[in-house]
Amino acid sequence: MKSLMTKLLNLPGIIVEDNKEIEGTLILSVKVENKTALCPRCGKSSHHLHENKRYLVKDLSMSNKQVILRVNRRRFKCKNCRKPFSEILDFVGNKKNFTHRYAEAITQQVIHSDIKNVAKNNKLAAEEVESMLKNIAEKILPIHVEKLRILGIDEISLVKGQGKFIVVLVDLETHKLIALVSERKQSQIEKVMRTWGEKVLSQIEEVSMDMTGNYKSLVKKLCPNAEVTALRFHVTKMIHEELNQARIEQKTAAKSLNESERVKLFDSLKGSKYTLLKAEDKLSNRQKEKLEKVKEASPLVRIMHSLKEEFHVVFEDSKNWAEGTLKLID
Ligand SMILES: [Zn+2]
Repeated sequence: MKSLMTKLLNLPGIIVEDNKEIEGTLILSVKVENKTALCPRCGKSSHHLHENKRYLVKDLSMSNKQVILRVNRRRFKCKNCRKPFSEILDFVGNKKNFTHRYAEAITQQVIHSDIKNVAKNNKLAAEEVESMLKNIAEKILPIHVEKLRILGIDEISLVKGQGKFIVVLVDLETHKLIALVSERKQSQIEKVMRTWGEKVLSQIEEVSMDMTGNYKSLVKKLCPNAEVTALRFHVTKMIHEELNQARIEQKTAAKSLNESERVKLFDSLKGSKYTLLKAEDKLSNRQKEKLEKVKEASPLVRIMHSLKEEFHVVFEDSKNWAEGTLKLID
């Protein structure tokens, strides 16, 4: 029987062993439920506990109380390699002092505010917020297509009247973005869809797209069991919601990110030296590779990056990003 605190914490596979409150902050001692861990060197499972190692990690608040997890990252001894190893925890990055979900929540706030304010509101240092943004940008967010049955394909224009579109693929049952393709080319969309694998492609029952039917032949080719229907969803609205989430008022029924939102988004990140915010043509090959990896993996980052590229077009003759943004704000 799981304890109430374990249920409330709601981190799969993690149990709360103990909890106390210190100056209004909840300190939860947690550990992985599983009594074994896999050796990262040889892949064999070990149950020989070598050492308990505790460290502190910030997590989402509970009922307005700050929550700090006292995590036991156990060390095991591998009988095969005869060496100790630390278990891998999936809810927190290596050497990070915040959980992935906490960093995600903070990132969502930054998109609609700025680093300074979010830091202040959450009693964090600006550097900590920056570090979380960076973590999110670098983290490979899993995109789940295993259960995809109803696919939506739509196009959104990034800058009105400039003819630049991205193609958006959505799971219409979960309302989750599953891919963004930066060009309206069939070959690009095909490339993305192929990565889902035969099994997923053949289990797709329905594909919904606009009446122009641009991608009809592609869908017929890739998804043998799918019926093509007319568009009946609003992709831009979904993206907006995805970027929005809780806390943010839903009253702006914006068709897509409006200019001031873009300014905010860009502004909030401009002080950071992320790969994502460098002009793409000035990146080293290693940085380009990394960028591709991140863009492939994360819809959110991809949108952010697409918007950034748009700014670049708008401010081609500005010497740098900061200057371009200042111009825009003026
Ligand atoms: Zn081993």
